[in-house]
Amino acid sequence: MSTSSETPTSERELIKPVQFLRGVGPQRAELLHRMGLRVARDMLFHFPRDYRDMSELRTVDELEENCPVSVCGHVEEIELRNTGTGRTVLGILVRQDQQYLRAIWFNQPHMRERFSRGQRILLSGKAHLNAGQWELSHPHVEVLAEHQEISTGRVLSVYPATEGLSQHHIRTIVEHVLGSCLEEVEEVFPPEYLLSHSIQPLREALPQIHFPTDRTSLKRARRRFVYQELFILQLALALRRHRLTTHNRATELPVTAQIDARIRRLLPFELTASQTAAIQEVTSDMARPISMNRLLQGDVGSGKTVVAVYAMLVAVAHGQQAILMAPTDILARQHQLTLATLLQKSRVRMELLTGSRSKSERRDLVRRTAAGELDVVVGTQALLHAGIEFPNLGLVVIDEQHKFGVQQRAGLRRTGLAPHYLVMTATPIPRTISMTVFGDLDLTSLRDSPPGRQPVQTYWGQPEQRAQWWEFFRRKLREGRQGYVIVPRVETSESNAIKSADDAFEELANGELEAFRVNLVHGRLSSDGKSAAMADFRRGQTQVLVATSVVEVGVDVPNATVMTIEDGDCFGLAQLHQLRGRISRGTHPGYLCVFSTPGTDESRQRLEAFVRSNDGFELAEIDFQLRGPGDLFSTRQHGMPPLKVADLSQDHELLEEARRDAQQLVADDPELAATEHARLRRMVLARYGQALELSDVG
Ligand code: ADP
Ligand code: MG
Repeated sequence: MSTSSETPTSERELIKPVQFLRGVGPQRAELLHRMGLRVARDMLFHFPRDYRDMSELRTVDELEENCPVSVCGHVEEIELRNTGTGRTVLGILVRQDQQYLRAIWFNQPHMRERFSRGQRILLSGKAHLNAGQWELSHPHVEVLAEHQEISTGRVLSVYPATEGLSQHHIRTIVEHVLGSCLEEVEEVFPPEYLLSHSIQPLREALPQIHFPTDRTSLKRARRRFVYQELFILQLALALRRHRLTTHNRATELPVTAQIDARIRRLLPFELTASQTAAIQEVTSDMARPISMNRLLQGDVGSGKTVVAVYAMLVAVAHGQQAILMAPTDILARQHQLTLATLLQKSRVRMELLTGSRSKSERRDLVRRTAAGELDVVVGTQALLHAGIEFPNLGLVVIDEQHKFGVQQRAGLRRTGLAPHYLVMTATPIPRTISMTVFGDLDLTSLRDSPPGRQPVQTYWGQPEQRAQWWEFFRRKLREGRQGYVIVPRVETSESNAIKSADDAFEELANGELEAFRVNLVHGRLSSDGKSAAMADFRRGQTQVLVATSVVEVGVDVPNATVMTIEDGDCFGLAQLHQLRGRISRGTHPGYLCVFSTPGTDESRQRLEAFVRSNDGFELAEIDFQLRGPGDLFSTRQHGMPPLKVADLSQDHELLEEARRDAQQLVADDPELAATEHARLRRMVLARYGQALELSDVG
């Protein structure tokens, strides 16, 4: 790039090591280093993690029940008590002129060390009147210098803290750096872009994110940085997608009328409208000379498997091989069974590979695959590590891989193959996640279910309703149905509070269900033990299966219509919904009772949502909201650098906007080669180059 404008403008101040900044000596520099802050620039981008609105600063007289307030005063008394039940209460009495209020913390004895008598502190939280005295429970605390000014009407920033560096110190350092470096900071976006997207220029936004004049200007500044962060992420995903769709050559596998007819003849049912539409999307991808990258999502029982089977048979019709990967042995075996039944009248050659196959069986399978004597291989992740070579691998289907993020898929690809990829999720994923973690994939959704499905009646059982529920459960068994009893653990936990699978089995088989054939299946059983137990259940030999969540995904026994879930608060919402999916497979209505005494607000809300809604798409969104950012769905979990400013549970609209804009930009300038995009490209590579294997872009 000879015309490049990348000659760095002077960055003398920006790259100044922190120890040379005003107010920082060797000791503080050491503390800053520990937080990853090395030069002045790092301080500029060390954003507050929170803000206190000082217009909420109150005197004790002005407090109101349950309103957010900040109060300033002096520590008068400190008391740390044990309540006797292993819990502690820390109480601080704070004096403000002649008035008093208390701050309390439960079970945080370490907070004690932060206080000393006579200290001046600022408390923020919600006030409650307790026996005539105002009380803030678990407030935010800031220790103030005696004469430190707290100007009202301002928004006070709160930085990620570290011991030995007060908020005041950090603020002072940042203030200084802003004064000396702002001129050197280079804008990321081209000027017209800032205008047309109403984005605040960097040099205006930086002072405001640190020291906002008021709520409105903070919002504006935050918007800029959230947008920027999401935009860079979306650019990375768009670049990766662009690269995959242009560079990843694959075999064209078009569907002819003849192939279609041959496949449909094998299917035992008519496809639903959404299955047909999904197959249409999948097969038009496969007909192109570029590797398909598609995510198929649908609610539990919506019939994703047949879409995958169709795609695999298209590959086979072209003399190509297909593999189907499932997360568990049980599910892999079940897929193999389903396929074997469908393929009875065809010449498709299929084998199963799981961890439990003997060495010689594996060797034989590897040989036959390499010789092109197998068309379809079904298995678990063992497939990846078995050293199998597929001479004509046309399609890889990954089933129920909720947790199979960008990175893992990148890993798969490293085997040097360029087949078509179809990934199926266990449950619908929140839209936010499909736009981030799965943002480089095309998305197909199955919105309706096969005909005749009955929703499952779900109850949250109270302890006193147990006898009644088991009576109902037995009645269903006598009517010829089968049932599951789900427990969270194989073994009894230390606290003994949660029943183990073994105990539950013993108890039921000798109690409520003693007149019935009950069996037990869990993850500790050998692979053969598991599959024998499942086979008995499938054949109706066993009437009730006591199980852990090993039956969570995919298990398909249509005659099973009743389920008891014990200790329901131990399961996630998606997991509960998956489990419920086990009893909505056939034409008989399903009934589920979950027993639980939830310990937290969140688990109570989870159970309420579970009982209220049967819609996996809706539950996925609720789950996401309840979990908040940074949990199971976090980008980090999926091998991507975490987001620093954006909060996916809030910044939904900006995410959509950033995504559209990034896609547009990559459509116009696929390699970000234009001079005015050089800076954006550098930022994308620095942040996501490795995680998304973009290093050779540009
Ligand atoms: P999931 O999307 O949860 O993987 P499956 O593919 O296992 O769902 O399908 C659930 C059940 O619905 C299976 O028993 C399957 O045979 C049946 N099924 C799928 N599609 C249809 C259809 N179009 N008509 C009737 N039954 C169907
Ligand atoms: Mg499935």
